[in-house]
Amino acid sequence: MEKINAKIEELKDSLIKDTQEVLKIKSLEEDALPGMPYGEGVGKALEKALEISKALGFKTVNLDGYVGYAEYGQGEDYIAVLGHLDVVPEGDGWKYPPYGAEIHDGKIYARGAMDDKGPIMSALYGLKAVMETGLPLSKRVRIIFGTNEETGSAEIPYYNAREKAPAAGFTPDAQFPIIYAEKGLTIFDLVKTIGTKAKRNMEIMSLKGGQRPNMVPDYCEALIATDDPANVISLLSEFKYENKQSDISYERTDEGVLLKSYGVSAHGSLPELGKNAIMQLLAFLGELPFEGTDIGDFIKFCNENIGMETDGKSFGVDLEDAASGKLSFNVGNIDLKEGVITMSLNLRYPVTFKLEDMLTRLERKLLNTDIEIKNLDHQAPLYFPKEHPLIVSLQKVYKEQTGLEPELLAIGGGTYAKEMENIVAFGPIFPGKPDLDHQANEYIEIEDLVKCAKIYGAAIYELAK
Ligand SMILES: [Zn+2]
Repeated sequence: MEKINAKIEELKDSLIKDTQEVLKIKSLEEDALPGMPYGEGVGKALEKALEISKALGFKTVNLDGYVGYAEYGQGEDYIAVLGHLDVVPEGDGWKYPPYGAEIHDGKIYARGAMDDKGPIMSALYGLKAVMETGLPLSKRVRIIFGTNEETGSAEIPYYNAREKAPAAGFTPDAQFPIIYAEKGLTIFDLVKTIGTKAKRNMEIMSLKGGQRPNMVPDYCEALIATDDPANVISLLSEFKYENKQSDISYERTDEGVLLKSYGVSAHGSLPELGKNAIMQLLAFLGELPFEGTDIGDFIKFCNENIGMETDGKSFGVDLEDAASGKLSFNVGNIDLKEGVITMSLNLRYPVTFKLEDMLTRLERKLLNTDIEIKNLDHQAPLYFPKEHPLIVSLQKVYKEQTGLEPELLAIGGGTYAKEMENIVAFGPIFPGKPDLDHQANEYIEIEDLVKCAKIYGAAIYELAK
């Protein structure tokens, strides 16, 4: 480890310079070009990273512009570090040019500095240091440059279909210390056809809320056609949500009353931190005389089986385990259109369960309701037991290099690690440091860039020796 650290110190200036080179290329997904499936910027960034890798003495491979890698060593199996070169749009509000990679106060400012170009360059230089020390390895090592992480990770299946899986490895695309558990992720719709019925004196003309299934909706509205709007307004003034005056306002319209429900947005993996505008509005709609109608049944079902809960308890899907905690249950969207009501959910189940465990329970609850599950999207959980050699090795390296406790983290899931077998998320954001990914003025402290190179170099050696 001392040898690797000393080499990194020698290579420091070159690491900074090469990182700046890669950061100066605006690698945002664009229309495909020949050999550049994600557009020119992304393709150029990949070519640059491979050119740098080659100059450092590594064998390089470019898999048709989808993925490239730098490889070192001999052996049947290989260790992988999986990072990505694509970025999200820079947005506004930058102090320095987002593709300038300027250094100010010991920080390199650029889109992608932390997510994920800086860290993957640290890993490349970590491998360079291992090579220069001449320490013997029993496995090959690959630094894999992904190019589509931000817009769907479609490049990794391309790699997986052509290359065998790594024996072990990590992705520097999340946070330190180590994320050993990522929940299973599902997004799906609950759909019910709302039959035609005799015109009633009160009807829901439209119902719409939420932006994305994986966000707690902060707004939802419903247009109620009625010949007695005063009644709706008076019921609203008496309505309590969470034992308080609700955050629902109204507007009189020609047709009746437009109800506007306000909540608090939060990430779909942590619904308990938000306030769901859709469920608040459904709670009030449950007070209106829609009993016996299809929409009334749907609202009643949701209020009885979801309500304010974010763990799926009344729905009967409240799975929980010691490794990753409780299932999270988020109602993200609702839309009533052309006689069909669609509600999009984002459920994340604990890592020791299977999709079937959750689905069987959901289906049991939906029996005889005429509510169907549609458009199911699923990502299996990621879980390495605490005593798994990969986890133990990374913990050892992290503790030795930083002196910090190598605590294991469980999250609501979805890092780059899920895309490739035997990979776990390891860094690059240190505990207590701000997460600037996808924000204006993204930077990486040069000290952290160098520290990451030392940690990743030592981890590569530990796994490949
Ligand atoms: Zn990333």
